[in-house]
Amino acid sequence: MTADRKKFYIETYGCQMNKYDSEIVAGILGKEGYTQVFRPEEADILLVNTCSVREHAETRALGRADNLGVFKHKTPGVRIGVLGCIVQNRGEKILEDHSAVDFAVAPDSYRQLPKILNNHREASGDDFSVRAFLDESDSGETYDDVYPARVKGLSAWIAVMRGCDNFCAYCIVPHVRGRERSRPAAHVVEEVRKLADEGVVEVTLLGQNVNSYDDGTHDFPDLLEKVAEQNGIGRVRFATSHPKDLSEKLVRTVADHEKICSHIHLPVQSGSTRILRVMNRAYTREAYLERVDLIRKHLPNVGLTTDIIVGFPGETQSDFEQTKSLLREVEFDGAFIFKYSPRPHTSAAGLKETLTEGEKIARLQELNAVQKTITQKRNQMHIGRTAQILVEGPSKKSLKDAMGRLENNKIVVLPDTKLQPGKFVTVKITDSKGITLFGELVDFKFQ
Ligand code: SF4
Repeated sequence: MTADRKKFYIETYGCQMNKYDSEIVAGILGKEGYTQVFRPEEADILLVNTCSVREHAETRALGRADNLGVFKHKTPGVRIGVLGCIVQNRGEKILEDHSAVDFAVAPDSYRQLPKILNNHREASGDDFSVRAFLDESDSGETYDDVYPARVKGLSAWIAVMRGCDNFCAYCIVPHVRGRERSRPAAHVVEEVRKLADEGVVEVTLLGQNVNSYDDGTHDFPDLLEKVAEQNGIGRVRFATSHPKDLSEKLVRTVADHEKICSHIHLPVQSGSTRILRVMNRAYTREAYLERVDLIRKHLPNVGLTTDIIVGFPGETQSDFEQTKSLLREVEFDGAFIFKYSPRPHTSAAGLKETLTEGEKIARLQELNAVQKTITQKRNQMHIGRTAQILVEGPSKKSLKDAMGRLENNKIVVLPDTKLQPGKFVTVKITDSKGITLFGELVDFKFQ
């Protein structure tokens, strides 16, 4: 690799936090004179950033890293790196098992990337002595002073805390991303101000367990309030909330501030208290339902979404029926339903699986069918309503139509308008098909 070869390409798999981490990596490398390119054939450094939460994402990403090896044959000196919690999870085995991979860096060690790349730049063609594995887990790293290199747009994600202390039995996150740590509220607000100056109108505050944010002087509702007070920012969203940390103060804060979007993603995982206990979720079915009542009392038009795992070890037909009845009782606007698969290092990995793959798939399909009907019903309830959307751009199906989102995150398509992205407009909802609402323009509301 010659001294001037400083173009990097990143491919990201997995959750939103991982996508944000790719922006952090791009920010770190950009500061050191590296340039991001968006086609692998143009790059000197190929990075694959993946999470470990689901086995499928891991397998796909490592397969992709192997495939990218073709660029090393075409252009000697090209380097391939694997990033993300997969590195924490699989350790140096990534380098042992994947000969195309030159270095592997875990999520708390991204500041070391320029050093690793420098070593590679100085090394000759196939010098494997510079293969590197870096894992400085639990360093308390928050990348608080790194400004992420985002693709310019209307919306931006900001990680306000990292890690998780909850140790849900099935989840690998606390094992690969370390303990919870929060960025100072003042720094988050400073970043939001900078984003507003750059034309961003919507920010999403991110954390694995965002509502347990605590910088020592501010809790999460305090932070939300401060962010919502910033001029230029029209909408504030947040994800993901843990039911046990969802306070009345948080719900009231959302209700009291027009800019804070009335959308709460509140993973329930199971409707059976018995399974929730084995999952170590720290709430019962009844406590979850009380949270839902609290939310709907203060936020009548809330968009309430959830995550569910089917086929957890020991899940009986009765447990499954309880999850199904919870879906019907709550009537979520949307649900991400997954079938259980064991992850290494987690406590559930030691539990004996009691369902076949076929049984898990059948339960998954049954719940998806139930939820589909509920989502359609919830969407139809919006017909006739007048509400504001933030215009995001042309609709995916027709470039002539515009699309935007309601504050509760539902998509609305408007026919044949010349609306500019970034505008807040008032619409009347006229129809609903599948997961999409259709509306007509009623009025403009300029910021
Ligand atoms: S709260 Fe549970 S599911 Fe969420 S990241 Fe933490 S351990 Fe994983």
